[in-house]
Amino acid sequence: MDLPIMQKEQVFVQPIAFSYENHVLEASILRLDQIHRVISGNKFFKLLRHFDHIQAKGITKVASFGGAYSNHIAALAAACHALGLGSVGIIRGDAPAAFNHTLAQAKDYGMELQFVSRMAYQDKAKLTSAFESKGYYVIPEGGYGKLGAEGVQMMYEWIDAQYTDLVCAVGTGTTMAGLVKGATPHQRVWGVSVLKGYPGLNAEMESLLTSEELKKEYQIVHDYHFGGYAKYNKTLLDFMNQVYAQCQLPTDFVYTAKMLFATWDMHRNGHFDKRANILLIHTGGLQGNKSLTEHAMLF
Ligand SMILES: *Cc1c(COP(=O)(O)O)cnc(C)c1O
Repeated sequence: MDLPIMQKEQVFVQPIAFSYENHVLEASILRLDQIHRVISGNKFFKLLRHFDHIQAKGITKVASFGGAYSNHIAALAAACHALGLGSVGIIRGDAPAAFNHTLAQAKDYGMELQFVSRMAYQDKAKLTSAFESKGYYVIPEGGYGKLGAEGVQMMYEWIDAQYTDLVCAVGTGTTMAGLVKGATPHQRVWGVSVLKGYPGLNAEMESLLTSEELKKEYQIVHDYHFGGYAKYNKTLLDFMNQVYAQCQLPTDFVYTAKMLFATWDMHRNGHFDKRANILLIHTGGLQGNKSLTEHAMLF
């Protein structure tokens, strides 16, 4: 289905070339950040198939899980608002004294936020059945799952067979799984994990693939988390500013900047074939930079 609020015609592939520490990376980047101000990037695709089900079943309210900084929660709130659906965000941890940007945005879109203790949050099966029994359609935490990955395959509308290597940032692995599902036999998919020391990610991503898809070419790299989820340092911020200055390409420090840095570094270290034609996936998330107020970003 097409959600009316998403401007798919605004998505484009941008050729980029930038030099950092005397090494030049030339690639293309799929600007999925352009789809919508809030429902940006991969979150739109991960929700697509869920909304097919919601509409087919005539369901009017949706619930999902996430942390206080979840782009998935903000995107879901905006999508439900646009479609006239009620929404509940089940948020891990105590209610903060003041809402951060993500939570404030979700609330502005009419999402009801329910804060649950870390203990209670662990038992998602229990929370899920409680909401289902009240008539809610429940989407897994962070949009993780096969339905999410199937929606991601729709990205191939913009991905030419000429690209040999596709690179995306990895949180739950759902986006990467969707890319692997849709890849042609000569395409290799690289996922850059933004989590620190979480080898379980490989199995979680792979559990979304069929035995045929498991034979495809793909790899998750775990060396570019910059200290862990949402951690950053001066190098990363400097890199983001350099990329923006040279290519007018905005990135976010949680996901896409780490993905781009990893690609540049792996390219510098000869991990890609000489004739590789690299397509980076800009998965959006730019509103996350709002928490970087104390640092001067060029964008
Ligand atoms: C959520 C998110 C990701 C991670 O997507 P997964 O499908 O959970 O791996 C990557 N980039 C951005 C900008 C995101 O918001």
